[in-house]
Amino acid sequence: RLHNEVQELKGNIRVYCRIRPFLPGEDRKNTSIESVGDDGELIIANPTKPGKDGNKTFIFNRVFGPVTTQEQVFLDIQPLVRSVLDGFNVCIFAYGQTGSGKTYTMSGPNSPTEKDWGVNYRALNDLFNISRERKQVIDYEVGVQMIEIYNEQVRDLLSTDGVQKKLGIVNTSQPSGLAVPDATMQKVQSTSDVIDLMNLGFSNRAMSSTALNERSSRSHSILTVHVTGLDKKTKSTLRGSLHLVDLAGSERVDRSEVIGDRLKEAQHINKSLSALGDVIFALAQKNSHVPYRNSKLTQVLQTSLGGHAKTLMFVQVNPDASSYSETLSTLKFAERVS
Ligand code: ADP
Ligand code: MG
Repeated sequence: RLHNEVQELKGNIRVYCRIRPFLPGEDRKNTSIESVGDDGELIIANPTKPGKDGNKTFIFNRVFGPVTTQEQVFLDIQPLVRSVLDGFNVCIFAYGQTGSGKTYTMSGPNSPTEKDWGVNYRALNDLFNISRERKQVIDYEVGVQMIEIYNEQVRDLLSTDGVQKKLGIVNTSQPSGLAVPDATMQKVQSTSDVIDLMNLGFSNRAMSSTALNERSSRSHSILTVHVTGLDKKTKSTLRGSLHLVDLAGSERVDRSEVIGDRLKEAQHINKSLSALGDVIFALAQKNSHVPYRNSKLTQVLQTSLGGHAKTLMFVQVNPDASSYSETLSTLKFAERVS
């Protein structure tokens, strides 16, 4: 039912909303979710204004309710992921406040079992399966980079020497060119290679969080899968890439309450998320000017946003009524780019 609908959607940008379930210990009675429709409709209720007058309706390409499994989510985006093997550039983002399920959607819970695998493991697994099926015809090579953007600095998450050097971004107009050429590129051949790499990346990311508590929610992490396919008969090469982006938490911080490093972080996050919103908005509007230069995030992703590239944003929602105002601002952000 959910397959092959990729092109039905407006342009090359689609927005999927995902509502995470209540977690053990959370009070299920206080929710801001009024209803989830099959047709991409989401109605949220304002806890301070009960009744229909307080409700707001949003329409997305799809809304996944709290019982949606990781497998169901992946089935929906599988055609998009597979298009990478045909030479497309694809970007998949997770946007939302801290605790809304961004990492769960992109990677899964901590140390996931196969059933709980998020988009990144499933995508790579699928790419390996399909490339094996096509191996008589096309010889595919898959390489992976993993970086983090924190306070407008790019860092390599796959370095093994413990040194976290700052990396530069190359402004390449070639779709095949690497935006961050100095980030470690690891060739991978199997899902177990990927799991090892991902663990290295996660531990590098966690390591830097000792200095600043919970840094992972305040940095963007980008896993990039580069695919090269050599056609055995024609000897022509195709290249595709898949960017899987776990964005920094979108929560607004109260300026009156934070100072110093925390304020600087908040300003950097704010700036890069609005730059991303502006770029996607400009692309959705088919504007001739797309403001890629306003953040490191949009510079890194420049060749994979716009043109023939395909973009999918998961907008993550915490169902708790206490998150209402963050949920509302998350949904407004998403509405603007969809
Ligand atoms: P974020 O990355 O946005 O800060 P997380 O992905 O860490 O949020 O999710 C917060 C918590 O909720 C985690 O414990 C996570 O395992 C859990 N969680 C999120 N989404 C789901 C889901 N769809 N099903 C079950 N648990 C979920
Ligand atoms: Mg997270």
